[in-house]
Amino acid sequence: MFKALVLEQEDKKTLSSIRQLTISDLPEGDVLVKVDYSSLNYKDGLAITGKGKIIREFPMVPGIDFAGTVEESASPLFTAGDKVILTGWGVGENHWGGMSEMARVKASQLVHMPKYMDARKAMIIGTAGLTAMLCVMALEDYGITPSHGPILVSGASGGVGSVSVSLLSRLGYEVVAISGREQNSDMLTSLGASKVLPREQFSEPGRPLDRQLWAGAIDTVGSQLLANILSQINYGGAVAACGLAGGFDLPTTVMPFILRNVALLGVDSVMCPLERRTLAWNRLVNLLPEDVYDQVGQEVSLEEVPELAEAITNGQVTGRVLIKLS
Ligand code: NAP
Repeated sequence: MFKALVLEQEDKKTLSSIRQLTISDLPEGDVLVKVDYSSLNYKDGLAITGKGKIIREFPMVPGIDFAGTVEESASPLFTAGDKVILTGWGVGENHWGGMSEMARVKASQLVHMPKYMDARKAMIIGTAGLTAMLCVMALEDYGITPSHGPILVSGASGGVGSVSVSLLSRLGYEVVAISGREQNSDMLTSLGASKVLPREQFSEPGRPLDRQLWAGAIDTVGSQLLANILSQINYGGAVAACGLAGGFDLPTTVMPFILRNVALLGVDSVMCPLERRTLAWNRLVNLLPEDVYDQVGQEVSLEEVPELAEAITNGQVTGRVLIKLS
C-alpha cells in the first residue's frame, strides 16, 4: 500500500483526500517510479481547488511534476534504480500524477536525472524552473543579450518568476522584477533583481506605445500587465510569455509589433520536445547557485497540499513548494 492525494468530483465540486492505494490501482505505463518529491505549481492549485478546468476525468491523482527512483521498467531506456524527473505531458491532468508515493508513466515522458542534481533540487526547480529556463532560452534564441538592456520579469515572487530572476542575473542580464508584494522585495533583490517595481504600476490600461525601457521580458501574468509590458519594450525587443496568473486575455494593440518590431514569444513546457528539455535541465544545473534552492523552496507534506493549493491560486505563495513523499 502507498499514500496518494486523490481528487474526486461531487456536485461539480472538486474534493481531495489522502488515500491508501495499491500498485494495481495505478494507470498503465511502462515505468513504475517511487516518487521522492513532487511540487505544487499554479496549475496544480487550479486542479486541486477545481478553480480551473484542468482535470476532466475523475478520480485523479494531481501533480504535474515529480522526481524519484525507477522501481520497475519494461522499457530499455530505464532500469530499476535510475533517478528520473517528469514534468508535463498532461501527467497530473489526464494521467495520474506525482502527488503519490508511487507513479506509473511512459518511459518517453521521463528524463534521466542530470549529474549533480537530486530529486529534492529537481522539484525545487520543477515545472516552474524548467519553464523559467525555457523562457530565458527563448529570449537568447531571439538574440537578446545582456548588452541590449534590462529584462523585466512579472509575477516575480512566484515559481517561474523567482527562478527567472535568478537565471537572468546569473547570465549577466540586468533584471527588473514586477511584484504585487512589497514584502518580497528583499528576497527578489537577493536573487539578483536590480529593482522591484510595484504591480499596480502595470495594472491599469496604458498607452498603446509607452516609453521604451526594456530589452525584453518574461511574463507569467498575462492580461493588462502583459499589454503594458509590450508597450514599453525597446525597438526589436521580445517578450517570452508563459503564464496567465492575472488572466488569459491580452488587451493590447498591434502597435508594439508593427511599429517597434517587438516579438511575443510563446513558451510551453508541457509538450516541450525531449531534446530541448534535457538541454534546459542541464543548463539549470550549471546556472543555479546552491543557495537558490534554500531561498526559493519550502518543503511540505502531502497533507498540507490542499490548503496551499488554495493559497497558490490566490497569489499568496512565495517561491516554490516542494512536496516530500517517500
Ligand atoms: P505562482 O508561483 O503562483 O506565481 C505566480 C505569481 O504571479 C504570484 O506569485 C504573483 O507574484 C503573481 N500573481 C498572482 N496573482 C496575480 C494576479 N491576479 N495579477 C497579477 N499577478 C499575479 O505560479 P507559477 O507556478 O510561477 O506559474 C506562473 C504562471 O505560469 C501560471 O499562470 C502558470 O499556469 C504558468 N505556467 C506555465 C507553464 C507553461 O508551460 N507555459 C509552465 C509553468 C507555469 P507577485 O506577488 O510577485 O506579483
